[in-house]
Amino acid sequence: MELAEFREPDQPGFTRRTFSEPYQRSRAWVKELMEAAGLQVRTDPTGNLIGELQGEAPELSQIAVGSHTDTVAGGGRFDGMVGVIGAIEVARLIRQGGQRLRHPLLVADFLGEEPNRFGLSCLGSRAVAGQLSQGHLLRPDESGETLISALLERGSRPADLSEGLWQPERLHCYLELHIEQGSRLQRAGIALGVVTAIAGIHRAVITVSGRPDHAGTTAMNERRDALAGAAEVVLLVERLAREQGEGGSGVGTVGRLEVSPGASNVVPGEARAWAEFRSIEPAWVQDRHLALEAVVAELAARRDLGVSIDWVSAEPPVACSEGVRQAIQEALEGLGQPSLELPSGASHDAAHVAHLCPMGMIFIPSRDGRSHCPEEWTEPEEVALGVAALLATVLRLDRRDTV
Ligand SMILES: [Zn+2]
Repeated sequence: MELAEFREPDQPGFTRRTFSEPYQRSRAWVKELMEAAGLQVRTDPTGNLIGELQGEAPELSQIAVGSHTDTVAGGGRFDGMVGVIGAIEVARLIRQGGQRLRHPLLVADFLGEEPNRFGLSCLGSRAVAGQLSQGHLLRPDESGETLISALLERGSRPADLSEGLWQPERLHCYLELHIEQGSRLQRAGIALGVVTAIAGIHRAVITVSGRPDHAGTTAMNERRDALAGAAEVVLLVERLAREQGEGGSGVGTVGRLEVSPGASNVVPGEARAWAEFRSIEPAWVQDRHLALEAVVAELAARRDLGVSIDWVSAEPPVACSEGVRQAIQEALEGLGQPSLELPSGASHDAAHVAHLCPMGMIFIPSRDGRSHCPEEWTEPEEVALGVAALLATVLRLDRRDTV
């Protein structure tokens, strides 16, 4: 709740976006919290806050635990935050209990997990995993500013990114506690979820080009209305996403539409739709990708419109590692807590760190499945259970030589 006080005053909800001033200030607060928990804190070249608790055997590989503290516009108080504050609490509890881990413990507050104005999500976790490319850094926002200049302005050192790379051989495993952002746990009446996999996402910008004309004088059969075509695209994405077997978890959305010239008395000359498909089944997403291209080509011909699809990203699904899942299950059994295995439809920093080491995630409930809104809520008792589960899992994995 204290962290949620850092918010952008001119935005709804609990907004704290990556390059905002409140986010910058909030991270000084997170840093202090890390230090108070006994962590040695550094800010890496990307701008990730990393706290370290030394282990008994410094030569052993590290157990990393983390999440993010930025929000979407109009966001809530739990998405990401429970993972960072929860990881700090785990470190604090270990020290307070006079315990010492064998492995070093890393607590990470990854920079900017939510999609930013440069159209990129998971900045910090991409960077440690070596997946923040030069192309990403040169991406412009709508004003023409590049990601690299925004990073420089906020004290990051993009030229030294290689120094911030995490080395797979130095990592034991990665764990992330997160809110579910869906309602499966609540419906099952279970407080703790063991994540099986993180959905892959294919995103496209579909540009529909027609011809702008006077809306009063151009007859219906003379029009090449780009927005009417884009409206069909929206429904096609919905139809394609509904085509799946019983129990399928695939989804498809058009979340943004831009119309130009954008006047009530002009037939739209161009429309752009931002579409995405997500699933933990790689074949399904790939299949939707191809199906969309086919139906859109048919639509273009039928309506005499130009349609181009630019696939801006294609992230494959990421499975959580068997070893970490098993450790989480055992930890929950040890706590006498029932659990539910479930996939994550949302992407997370964990999906990037998974390229480096065994990864696992623990979910706690989101009331009514609400997230990315001010109503986002998880009961304090459920947060506490999540932290207890995270701690128990860390202690279990610490005793293992390999995950
Ligand atoms: Zn999140």
